[in-house]
Amino acid sequence: MNDDNCIFCKIVAGELPAEKVDEDEHTLAFMDINPWTRGHSLVIPRNHSRNLYEVDPEDLSHTAAAAKRLAERMRDRLGCDGVNLLNSCEAAAWQTVFHLHLHVIPRYDGDPLRLPGQPMSPEEGELARVAGELRG
Ligand code: AMP
Ligand code: ZN
Repeated sequence: MNDDNCIFCKIVAGELPAEKVDEDEHTLAFMDINPWTRGHSLVIPRNHSRNLYEVDPEDLSHTAAAAKRLAERMRDRLGCDGVNLLNSCEAAAWQTVFHLHLHVIPRYDGDPLRLPGQPMSPEEGELARVAGELRG
């Protein structure tokens, strides 16, 4: 499965360069071209899928396992103090490249990254209402 117009498929096919850091039968990991911190990488399934909505659960599972492997390597080799795993699904959620990817972002004590969201204070009963919509 491959999409001719997808830059990450082109990286998988070797048609675009990337600084690869890990690969297996199902996944590829490479440095993000505009890193947020030192070592910021992306893990992708080799098979094309647009995002979380469309990815085959098996591909997602392999991709998550590869992200864990890479996070441990970041801890051991880069000496990071923590890791963020980030995925964006659709433009409303900041997705800009439409081939599923997990950002694996090593974090360092005192680095400049900040949480992008502010906690909301839900109205009385709102949590239960939403839970009712999601349940079952
Ligand atoms: P997102 O905004 O979650 O879809 O993430 C897309 C990420 O892909 C961004 O962080 C970009 O910096 C990164 N990116 C775009 N093109 C390339 C490329 N050719 N090689 C490596 N990373 C890329
Ligand atoms: Zn693709």
